[in-house]
Amino acid sequence: MDSGIMDSRGPKLAIDSGACGYLTIDLKALRRNYDKLSSIVAPARAAAVVKADAYGLGANQVSKALYGHGCRHFFVAHFIEALRLRPQLPRDVSIFVLNGLLPDNEIACAEGGIIPVINSLDQLRQWVEVARSLHRKLPAVLQFDTGMSRLGIPMEDRSAVAACLKTCSDIDILFIMSHLASADDGDSEQNADQLARMRRVAKDFPGYDISFANSGGIFLGSDFHGVLARPGIALYGGAATGGVANPVEPVVRLDVAVVQTRTVPAGARVGYGGVHVTKAQARLATIAAGYADGLPRSLSDRGAVYYDGVRLPIVGRVSMDSTTIDISALPEDALSFGSLVEVLGDHQTLEDLARDAGLISYEILTSLGHRFHRQYV
Ligand SMILES: *Cc1c(COP(=O)(O)O)cnc(C)c1O
Repeated sequence: MDSGIMDSRGPKLAIDSGACGYLTIDLKALRRNYDKLSSIVAPARAAAVVKADAYGLGANQVSKALYGHGCRHFFVAHFIEALRLRPQLPRDVSIFVLNGLLPDNEIACAEGGIIPVINSLDQLRQWVEVARSLHRKLPAVLQFDTGMSRLGIPMEDRSAVAACLKTCSDIDILFIMSHLASADDGDSEQNADQLARMRRVAKDFPGYDISFANSGGIFLGSDFHGVLARPGIALYGGAATGGVANPVEPVVRLDVAVVQTRTVPAGARVGYGGVHVTKAQARLATIAAGYADGLPRSLSDRGAVYYDGVRLPIVGRVSMDSTTIDISALPEDALSFGSLVEVLGDHQTLEDLARDAGLISYEILTSLGHRFHRQYV
């Protein structure tokens, strides 16, 4: 019999919520990663970058876990993320909006006790006006563009910014920051270039604290640490440094349920477009996750999942809600309806899956879907 619940010995889906697998988030590993990064940057402190729902792992759960472990600085990308996170956390945390504020969000930001990252002279002037209109001193972070050309005050606006700060006492600049474009590549000359520019900024704004390093920057040495590092991916177990062993622990594991198994003869076409044709008789299993669940379509005929340490290649195209795998390498009765196969775990890291998909670990994490049973352990 090809499917049925009696004949399998391995782990099985055992929940009645209708979820198609388990996304397990190890908050202890997250905390250990935070400790490790904190100890590398000490005496500087480590913030947590929890944008994009903490890279898909749950901004509320992640932030609360790290708050309990001493983290008091949280970075999001969009103001809406800050608005959602603010009521979840005690008042003694600082929430920073990396992308700054879009028009008409200033009052809500000031009233919400949220701190904008100021990315232009115009934004600085706007924030000064808001402070004056509210008769309050408002906090802000200044970001300079030291060579990424993405966000931040251009280098040539330094003197205008300094002049603006001199004439107004309405803004409390908490620190000055910049972002590294190539921190994951320790050999990139861009790191030294950006550091040189950051030093010029620091010279022009003496007395201000600096925040510079993302995850990769933490491993570039103390020149890059400033007083507050901003790790994201390394907290969540991703490799922040190309080429060397990943210094942090995995945080995420993903197990997906088998929904059907079958045996097909040689010459059978598998999946949309029939692009995969079996060369010999094969045993196949269809698992309950597809590209809508974060298994990228680029894994079609390339990636794999694991069971009991055995590699089970993906065959044919990844569908929206399902993916077919070749299980011929397993004993006949090893897998059946409801059996769980490993997509991320002991045998397959985020980087492995990302490599097969032609993506980066960040894309895999932030795409993991919401049809899995999320368990925080
Ligand atoms: C996303 C982001 C980070 C975190 O980057 P990781 O590479 O995930 O550590 C830090 N700073 C800024 C400005 C960011 O946009």
